[in-house]
Amino acid sequence: MAKKKIPKRTIRYDRIAMLAIPALLILIAAIFVIARLADGKKAPERTPEPTPETAVSTPTPEPTPEPTPDPERDPRFFETDSYLIVANKKHKLPEGYEPSDLAYPEVNMRYNNWTLRMEAAVALEEMFAAAAEEGVNLVMGSGYRGEEFQRVLYDGYVAEGGQSYADSISSRPGYSDHQTGLATDLCGQDAAYDLTQDFEMTQEGKWLAENAYKYGFIMRYPKGKEAITGYAYEPWHFRYITKAEAQKIHDAGENMTFEEFYGISGGDYAN
Ligand SMILES: [Zn+2]
Repeated sequence: MAKKKIPKRTIRYDRIAMLAIPALLILIAAIFVIARLADGKKAPERTPEPTPETAVSTPTPEPTPEPTPDPERDPRFFETDSYLIVANKKHKLPEGYEPSDLAYPEVNMRYNNWTLRMEAAVALEEMFAAAAEEGVNLVMGSGYRGEEFQRVLYDGYVAEGGQSYADSISSRPGYSDHQTGLATDLCGQDAAYDLTQDFEMTQEGKWLAENAYKYGFIMRYPKGKEAITGYAYEPWHFRYITKAEAQKIHDAGENMTFEEFYGISGGDYAN
C-alpha cells in the first residue's frame, strides 16, 4: 500500500508541477503586463497626487479673495460718470456732485420738467414708447434733483417734524439716488397713486415691475428689503444702471437689491 502510494504521489506532484510551472510563468507574465499597463495609466494620475499635499500646506482660500475686488473700493460704484454710481444712506455722493450730461427726456411729465443723464433719458423714452404700445401710459414724476433742491426739501421736513421724521420720508442732501441723475419716480394716469405703495396695483405699476429691467432700470427699493436699502418699499422709484446690469439683477431673483447683488453696504445712516 505504501509503495503504491509514494509513486502515485510523485507522479501527481510531477503532473501538478508540469501544469503549474507554465501556468505560474503565464501568471507572472500577465502580472508584469498588467502592472506595466497599470503603471502607464497611473503615471498621469500620480502627477495630480501632490495637489492635495499643496492644498493642505498652502491654504487655497487665500488666492480666491485676491481676484475678487472689494466692492467698497470698486470704481464702478464711485466714479461719477459710472452708471453704477451708488447713493444710499451709507454712501454719500461727492460734495456738490452734479452730472455733466443732463437731458430732458421727451416723455409725459408731472410736477416739473425733469432731467436725467443722457443715456438714462434715451432709455426712458424707449421704455415709455414700449409701454405705450401695450396701452400703458407712463408719466415721469421726478428725475434729477440737485443737492440744493434736496437740502431745501429735507430741511423743510426737519422743520415740520424733526430729523427722524425727515429721514423717514426724504434723503439727506448728498445721499439721494435722485442726485445721480439716474433715478426717476414714475407715475400712471391716475395721480392719486403717485408716490404711494398702492402704485403696485395699477396697470402702470405692474407693467414697470415686470418690464423696466429690459430698458436698464431696476426697482431701487423693493418690498421687504428696507433693512438692506435703507428705504421703505417704493414701487415707483426706478434707477438706471444699463440694460446689461439690470438684466443680471433681474436674473438674480425676485426683489434683488443693488446692495445685495453688488455687495455694497446699505441700510440706515451711520449716525
Ligand atoms: Zn424717488
